[in-house]
Parts: sequence; C-alpha cells; structure tokens
Amino acid sequence: MRIQSHATLIIGEDDTAVETRVNMHAALAVCSDPLESSDGRSPCGTCRNCRLLKSTGEHYDIIRVTKSEDKQQLTIDVIRAIIDSAPVMPVQAPHKVYIIRDAGDMNASASNALLKLLEEPPSKVVFLLTGKRVKDFLPTIRSRCVIERISSERTSAAEDKNALAIFEAFGNRNPSLLATECLKLEKGLTTAELRAVLHSLYRLFSNAAVTPGADARQSLLALEVILPLTELYRPPASIGAGHAAGTLMVRLTAILLN
Ligand SMILES: [Zn+2]
Repeated sequence: MRIQSHATLIIGEDDTAVETRVNMHAALAVCSDPLESSDGRSPCGTCRNCRLLKSTGEHYDIIRVTKSEDKQQLTIDVIRAIIDSAPVMPVQAPHKVYIIRDAGDMNASASNALLKLLEEPPSKVVFLLTGKRVKDFLPTIRSRCVIERISSERTSAAEDKNALAIFEAFGNRNPSLLATECLKLEKGLTTAELRAVLHSLYRLFSNAAVTPGADARQSLLALEVILPLTELYRPPASIGAGHAAGTLMVRLTAILLN
C-alpha cells in the first residue's frame, strides 16, 4: 500500500473483498514499524500490534462501527459516539482506526456530522469507510477521502485454478514449482484472462494476509507484487503476458528466498 490517508472510502459490491481491503488498511495503521519498499508500505508482522491482530483478529485500537440493530441507517448518535471518543489517544498502536461499514447508508444529519469530523480529523485517527456506490456519499465527504474501488469481476474456474497453483507453490515455499506455475501464464491467455488470474491471486493472498495463523507478512509482501500488475492490466493494457509472468516469478521467488 503506497499511502495512507486519514480517511479512505472503499467502494465495492463484493463484501468479502471490501472486508479484506479494510483489514489490510487497518493492519497497516496499527503496525508500529511498517516495512518500507519501493512499492509502498506493509505491516511488519512482528511488532506487538501486528502480533495481537494476527493472533486474535482484533485490536483495541481498531473500532468497528455498525448501525444499531433496530435502525435502518447509521444515525447521528453513532457518529456522535465517534466524535466523543476519537480525540482519545490510541491504547497502544500509532493510530486509532474507525471502520464504518455501509457508511453510504446514513441519514442527512449523520452525514453532516461525519463530514465535520473528516474536515477536522483528530490526530492519530484513521477512518475507513465502506459502501457499495460512490454516489451514495455526499460529494463533500468524497472529496475528503481517498477513494479505492474494488473490482467485482468474477473469474472462471480455469483462472482460479491457475491462481491457486501459484498461491500453493508460494505457500509451500517451492521456488521451482512457483516458477513453472508463473511461466504457464505466458502461454495462451488473453489479457482479460490474465487479469482474471491476477485478481484471483489477489483475493487468495488478501485472505491469507488476514487469516490468523497464516504467514501474513509474506502474503502482504506478495500483494505488493500483485497489486501493481492488476493495475497495469486495466484496459488498454500496456504490457504483455510475458512481463506479468516474469515479474510475478522473480518477485515472488525473491520473497520466498529472503
Ligand atoms: Zn507491525
């Protein structure tokens, strides 16, 4: 992940993919010692904040906000509770994170209160908002957030199989099998199919990155390799399958051997 803004709006139809992205942002925000690389930053996986999150899936400084059970929308009292607690310093992480799910589903007074909060954010606070459509948010709220859209394109079984083979070779720390599986991507795939494989791989590694017990740090490093490739394959794609296969192979192998 390259930058972390004080407010990020994550838009997507696929709840699992949105949740995964939210968790990645939250993990980075609470890490005491993020790893820096030319591709951006990722959680270290070893500091006490990373270890707490990895072992329990939760952290004192990650607060998940949802609507009250008897309400259809997020209401102003939910936002007021955030306004009251946000200025209090984080318990042990460098940032306190508020995850506000379905934040597009908010009445006008709640939206306006949220806007005020985003306009003058307390220090050391990161807001992660999610929603299905950008248009559900006030333009003034959108303009205060970095917007990330998650593609919901479905992949076919064949592409999932390709991705799974690469993911498993990586997980088994088998560089030669990893090379073989990556190089298969060079042959016979259209740009759309290659993109689907990359998205499928992205999902596999994203899930592993937040699964307690999995090697989260390795998975996050792998995501730093895959994410730029999925961006490059946005139409009109400017790079060939050989480039994708070669980059994946070289960079994933380097992570394994480190
Ligand atoms: Zn850490």
